[in-house]
Amino acid sequence: MTAHLAIYGCQQNQADGDRLRGMLLAMGYTMTDDRAGADLVVLVTCAVRKHAETRLLGHLGTYLHKGKPGRKVVLCGCMAQREEVRELLRKRYKQVSLSFGPADLGRFPEYLRRLMTEGGRHIITSPDTAPIEEGLPIARLIDPEINRANVTIMTGCDNYCSYCVVPYVRGRERSRAPEAVLEEVRGLVEDGVGEIWLIGQNVNSYKPDFPDLLRACASFEGNYQLRFMTSHPRDAGRRLFEAMASSPRIAPVLHLPAQSGSNAVLKAMNRGYTREDYLEKIRLAKETIENLTLSGDVIVGFPGETEQDFLDTLSLLEEVRFAKLFTFQYSARAGTPAAELTETLSPGEMKERFMRLLEVQKRIEEELGG
Ligand code: SAH
Ligand code: SF4
Repeated sequence: MTAHLAIYGCQQNQADGDRLRGMLLAMGYTMTDDRAGADLVVLVTCAVRKHAETRLLGHLGTYLHKGKPGRKVVLCGCMAQREEVRELLRKRYKQVSLSFGPADLGRFPEYLRRLMTEGGRHIITSPDTAPIEEGLPIARLIDPEINRANVTIMTGCDNYCSYCVVPYVRGRERSRAPEAVLEEVRGLVEDGVGEIWLIGQNVNSYKPDFPDLLRACASFEGNYQLRFMTSHPRDAGRRLFEAMASSPRIAPVLHLPAQSGSNAVLKAMNRGYTREDYLEKIRLAKETIENLTLSGDVIVGFPGETEQDFLDTLSLLEEVRFAKLFTFQYSARAGTPAAELTETLSPGEMKERFMRLLEVQKRIEEELGG
């Protein structure tokens, strides 16, 4: 039996994909790149923006119903945990015979076995507090050129930024035990992996303590560098920056999503910091970490964003000078508080601000590069 695994979205999904691949191999499947010829297709999906969801449903509609007779399609990842999506699966996308959310990863073999023995369709609502399961087989695809691997350290999110669907689909914040993380990192170092990423929706909320974990992960003998994703600006501070500066095994690279440069918008987003807080953290990080490379995320067109709010975001970019910026057009997600806000930009205004943002960032990158 062959299985095709397609992973969309963030690095947390990539890390989940390594576990799904591990479980598939342990169940005796052979992995294949050939989606049409596979006996089983497993889709790890993203729900952060509507666009990603629409595209994935388009895939399901247009060509997933073709392919090998008897082929089964499994939909997991963040989309699978959205009620609207489950409703669509039940009513319309009947080619999907199993779906379950990201909090339930470890039960995949059980769910799949049930599908294979009982047949029928299993559209499952996952619990949002299930602990991250230890001992699942992990099968990473490590590109020898890049030689990097992800290690999940925590999952879920309790921050409830007003625009974001993640807390609703990935469930409550849960951390892995430091011993389990260290064991995994040690194994990767022994295998000669050069770039090890510690992954979580909000690594600064790692319990008991992220800076301590980072230092401990950097303590192994070997030629490797650590990176991490994502840091929340509210919880990142001096202890984190000092930990980063403490070892050459921690890359001087910080991804710190600002989302906006306007205090009114940050407040409406429920981000828990002001523009001034953010800039102070950036100043401290630059002062503490030599040769620091900064990246960030920005959302354009949050409901109620005025021209002045937007200009505040542009001026934040000028002050920080990110080496790389991930830019997003606001996308209303059902069930989030921001989706109730009605003062939205027209598509034309959205596009116009987005283009101006890209232009400013492009110039900054050119200046940094040159
Ligand atoms: N936990 C991380 C990021 C999670 S989602 C953090 O807090 O930074 C990754 C990025 O997608 C976010 O940083 C944000 O910029 C963007 N994003 C999330 N929800 C969005 C939405 N509804 N519309 C547009 N962009 C969104
Ligand atoms: Fe979403 Fe905010 Fe949590 Fe990031 S911190 S995952 S943006 S709710």
